[in-house]
Amino acid sequence: MNNSNNYIDLSKIIKMTDSEIPVEIVFFAENFSDEAVKFASPVKLFGKLVNLSGMLRVEAMLEFSVEYSCDRCLSDFVKAYEIPFSDEIALENSEREIDEYIPYSNSRVDLTDAVYKCIFSEMDIKNVCKPDCKGLCGMCGADLNSGFCNCSDDNIDPRLLKLKELLKQ
Ligand SMILES: [Zn+2]
Ligand SMILES: [Zn+2]
Repeated sequence: MNNSNNYIDLSKIIKMTDSEIPVEIVFFAENFSDEAVKFASPVKLFGKLVNLSGMLRVEAMLEFSVEYSCDRCLSDFVKAYEIPFSDEIALENSEREIDEYIPYSNSRVDLTDAVYKCIFSEMDIKNVCKPDCKGLCGMCGADLNSGFCNCSDDNIDPRLLKLKELLKQ
């Protein structure tokens, strides 16, 4: 569900050839029509709108954080992002492929879909809470980051180890 509050008025910058104006918008998770990305914060867009000889561009950064579930230990963690977002903004034109530019009409543009697409393409497929996450024990399911479990031979009581050896035979 797109929120009409996210429209940027372009009427000023359209008339100002070879100039730029600052732009700052905040998007909330509910502004995006797709829910695949689990946002842990609003998405802050800040940068500028540029008019280069009549061609409009948005040149900005996106700041936001996303909640993930660790692939190894399953615990939730938050990752912060700061990624560049820039694209051409052009009059809606059915002759052009939609991924080549962000269309505007009536002197205003809605960046919501383009912002989401940019964020989505940055998402990691594999996610671990930390590079050396030890994950869960395959035997008892204990989180090995918060200590050892009794399934580990390194930590096992020597007497139990002997018992384990006996049981193997
Ligand atoms: Zn983990
Ligand atoms: Zn275990």
